[in-house]
Amino acid sequence: MRIPIIAGNWKMNKTIKEAVAFIEEIKPQIEGTDVEVILCAPFILLKDMKEVSKGSNIKIGAQNMHFEESGAYTGEVSVLNLKEIGMDYVIIGHSERRQYFGETDENVNKKVKKALEYDINPIVCVGETLEERQAEKTRDKVKLQVEKAIEGLTHEQASRIVVAYEPIWAIGTGMAATSSDANEVIEYIRQTLESIYSSETAEKIRVQYGGSVKPQNVEEIMNEPDIDGALVGGASLDPQSFVKLVNF
Ligand code: PEP
Repeated sequence: MRIPIIAGNWKMNKTIKEAVAFIEEIKPQIEGTDVEVILCAPFILLKDMKEVSKGSNIKIGAQNMHFEESGAYTGEVSVLNLKEIGMDYVIIGHSERRQYFGETDENVNKKVKKALEYDINPIVCVGETLEERQAEKTRDKVKLQVEKAIEGLTHEQASRIVVAYEPIWAIGTGMAATSSDANEVIEYIRQTLESIYSSETAEKIRVQYGGSVKPQNVEEIMNEPDIDGALVGGASLDPQSFVKLVNF
């Protein structure tokens, strides 16, 4: 049985004060949920978020990390620091990092391995552009991204990753994929995982959908058989909107 996830990706938003107030507000309102609740925020907010979320069912994640543990990488953040402050998750290979910061499939693979080495669960983002979708290249694109991201992982390591299928054209546009389209691609991602590992391992790996999920469409998306959760940007920024997503 895969536990579904509702994860917020705050991107480059919120102050420490706002993040702490957000968690204090939502904590009592999501106590009864069966979903795993994750908030991924800018590095500087994470330590305080972890502190204030103690004793609650909220897990905290970073939005990136470096694949080396230390060294001459000005401006980067090490997995050792994420571990030190008790991070549960880290987003790896978000399309914004691929698009604006030169994140490659090779780096994604190195980061995934490093996060797993330190028991931090990577949320690996994959997804096609609008042009790729129109050219019917969606499957090829996500297959390649998944294969490269997990290259060299053991069955045990692979079972700990989360894949987020995020069509780039759906991110921040208000134009979500239909739940059946998203389910179809996610089913294909699980088939890809099965062909690399086994059905047993593939059944353990959670695959989320991301791209303009909001309180109005979350239930439909979560009800799809192969979709194990949602990675949510814009609609995760308001505490009451996030509560609605969690308590869909
Ligand atoms: C995201 O940033 O991962 C995302 C899915 O954003 P939005 O929900 O705003 O489309």
